[in-house]
Amino acid sequence: MSRLPSPDLARVSGDLEILASYRDPEAPGWTRRVFSGFDRAGREWVAARMQEAGLRVETDAAANLIGRLPGTGGLPGAIVTGSHTDTVHGGGRFDGIIGVLGAIEAVRCLRAAEVELEHDLVVVDFLGEEPNDFGLSCVGSRAISGALDEGHLALLGPDGRSLSEALAAAGGVPSALGGARWPEGLHCYVELHIEQGPVLEQARVPIGVVTGIAGIHRLRARFEGRPDHAGTTPMSLRRDALSGAAELALAIERLAQGGVATTGRLEIRPGAHNVVPGEADLWAEARSPDAQWLDSFGRAVADEFDGIGARRQLGTTLTWISREPPVTVTDWVADSIDQAATSLGNRVLRIPSGAGHDASHMARLGPMGMVFVPSRAGRSHCPEEWTDLEDIGRGIAVLVQALVVCDHRKEERSRGRRSGLDD
Ligand SMILES: [Zn+2]
Repeated sequence: MSRLPSPDLARVSGDLEILASYRDPEAPGWTRRVFSGFDRAGREWVAARMQEAGLRVETDAAANLIGRLPGTGGLPGAIVTGSHTDTVHGGGRFDGIIGVLGAIEAVRCLRAAEVELEHDLVVVDFLGEEPNDFGLSCVGSRAISGALDEGHLALLGPDGRSLSEALAAAGGVPSALGGARWPEGLHCYVELHIEQGPVLEQARVPIGVVTGIAGIHRLRARFEGRPDHAGTTPMSLRRDALSGAAELALAIERLAQGGVATTGRLEIRPGAHNVVPGEADLWAEARSPDAQWLDSFGRAVADEFDGIGARRQLGTTLTWISREPPVTVTDWVADSIDQAATSLGNRVLRIPSGAGHDASHMARLGPMGMVFVPSRAGRSHCPEEWTDLEDIGRGIAVLVQALVVCDHRKEERSRGRRSGLDD
């Protein structure tokens, strides 16, 4: 395989710095939340960079920014790469961003080497990957994969505005969302992203080849006891809802062996110093790339919950808020990334992704794979989020090479789609 020009690190660093300057100065870190003017201005700057790199740029009905480089083969499915440029409140400068700026740099590298792919190459800056005020994430990639529905559009934000209205203000056309859906399949989707965890850094390996994206099961557990006087009610006669919830939180921690599980929120009522808590609501989630583990975890939590309720004479209601299945990475795409990385002299580690990504939704449309680069101390979604420029450069070089390898994988075309969401 011929060597392609290396990414221009000074140019990449300059791009990162400029995009980071589109931030809310009133908020901590590098805040550029979807539907804000900062996000809109940042994406206009990204669109100009796409154009400069030689991409034909358009914005679809879901306000996704899409740049296309036509292939020479007139082939039906495109090779798609990209990520998102919105951040969480108080977020960092790398999550999602290196996948978009890296994809643009990849196009520059290919063009500089006069390497033409047979497939169209499509670069996407997906709208709003991070959770927004409407409680939804991955707005743009959901729309492209046909999973953004009327119910989502009707979701209301804290100011009473609907997601549909916010989308229109961001340059989308909610009434034409059907047109944002890509009816044709993809040749493949490859996303470069920071790991957002400590595994690569601890292993001192520069490139992660993602094996799958964790499924997420979220629950709410409600205990109902009796609010009694904290001074006059003997311990043996209490029905303390908070003590039940505390026991369940510890059980969830214990049952998380083999995956991860978190109790992230707890509300008690009436919530007074001198009253035994009469009601407690606990919100928890579990994540794993293993669907069976998630199911058995769910059963074990439900058993513990019933047991605690019976022992403490508490009423119990368990609600599964969502059960997102794990997403399978397509073997031939992962192998192509692996081959690209090792051909460039990189050590590679195969790792699952504990975080959700636009790739989870793109997997509905066709073969999918992801490249990870290390996150310092595993930090992400915070101002301290950091990835060394050299690591970003290595990731982009692997992306360029992987796009070329995937372009050559023509025999895979007839094998159809593979995705965990379809299983
Ligand atoms: Zn991200």
